[in-house]
Amino acid sequence: METRDIAVIGGGPAGLSTAISASRFGVETILFEEHENIGLPWHCAGIASSSRLKSLHIEGFDKAVLAEFDTVDIYLSLRHAFTVISDVPQLILDRISFDNLLAEKASSSGVELKLRSKVKALRYTYDNLVEVYTDSARYKCRVVVLAEGLPGVLARNLGFDTKSLSMLPSIQYLARVDPPLTIGIVEVHLLPGLSPPFFVWVIPIDTDLCRVGLASHNPRKLKPLLESFLSKRFKNWHILSESRWVISVGGPLRSTVKKRIILVGDVAGQTKPTTGGGIVSSIVCGTIAGRISGLASTRNDYTLLDMYEALWRKFLGFNFKIQKIARKAVDRMHWRTLSSIVESISREYQELRVVDLDTQIDLILKLISSPDLASKIVGSLLKPRTYR
Ligand SMILES: Cc1cc2nc3c(=O)[nH]c(=O)nc-3n(C[C@H](O)[C@H](O)[C@H](O)COP(=O)(O)OP(=O)(O)OC[C@H]3O[C@@H](n4cnc5c(N)ncnc54)[C@H](O)[C@@H]3O)c2cc1C
Repeated sequence: METRDIAVIGGGPAGLSTAISASRFGVETILFEEHENIGLPWHCAGIASSSRLKSLHIEGFDKAVLAEFDTVDIYLSLRHAFTVISDVPQLILDRISFDNLLAEKASSSGVELKLRSKVKALRYTYDNLVEVYTDSARYKCRVVVLAEGLPGVLARNLGFDTKSLSMLPSIQYLARVDPPLTIGIVEVHLLPGLSPPFFVWVIPIDTDLCRVGLASHNPRKLKPLLESFLSKRFKNWHILSESRWVISVGGPLRSTVKKRIILVGDVAGQTKPTTGGGIVSSIVCGTIAGRISGLASTRNDYTLLDMYEALWRKFLGFNFKIQKIARKAVDRMHWRTLSSIVESISREYQELRVVDLDTQIDLILKLISSPDLASKIVGSLLKPRTYR
């Protein structure tokens, strides 16, 4: 049986950034991706903060940027309620180019990329290594980084609590629309009938081209809800492509390390509980996971792996906690309460300025500084969830 120092499972942003940073330690790193092509199938809306992406020092990432925006218009039942303006521009990425850029960097740093290689199972050996099984091969590895994304089949089989990821089915279209949209302005529509309360996003790539989608716990309702929205919002619309996947709004798992196995990215719940967004956080956590596993491997001291949990929580734990409280409050709101909150914001603000939309902390703190809004949000937290 072949042996490797580090095996990474999953060729998304979490897995690729893990492999890049692990390989810098000169350790043998292998990455398994079940699909033939990196970045496909594509299902992500691709929004990421420009300043947070810049801080990751991914050379050449600007080539994967399709458009930018700094303004989000919030609508309540198709009526404009208020506007949020971000000082830091937000980028709309072409995820296929972006993921392939990471894959090229991984490959040129010496990572062995195994495409069309689905990992079927993982097993601990008597000497505490991990065996990785694909259809055609078996590897013995010192550390395994699980970056399989959602729904997290391997993680569940290993006993990680993937139920707490609170996965929501989602649908997204790439659509041509008329009348035209304004480049630089993303629309967020709050509509009755979405359970748990979620939103429809309209992200302009061009004046007549957008990504439009929504998430809801009932997969059968996704298409009718989205198409009914499109018919109300646009005179003409035409679907160019459709994708369905799940997002996670449950926040991070309680534990993301078990013996020699580390969880990174969506499968670890490292996504925003408010929106399910996780591109930047998966890269931040992947980079930490790669460094820790590289270090553990070179020093032959696998107790170092426990540092991963503490380190990524130090960088992102607070943001996730605040966003999880916001998600909890919204999950418990009836449409009437949610719309009255949005109407109160609309009366109080019309336009809200935030430093960086990406973390949302700024926005949440601004909203709860109003006593009226704060009491409605606290009231919701004390109620049971509106959906099961
Ligand atoms: C509709 C939608 C819209 C989104 N919009 C945004 C957004 O605007 N901004 C944002 O930040 N985030 C967004 N996200 C979330 C974002 O896509 C993820 O957070 C991000 O891709 C996390 O990357 P990951 O590497 O953890 O997982 P993934 O990107 O899902 O990658 C996991 C990889 O593992 C592979 N894999 C799985 N199992 C195996 C196996 N057994 N063997 C080998 N390979 C395997 C998969 O094929 C996949 O390539 C969105 C998600 C959805 C569904």
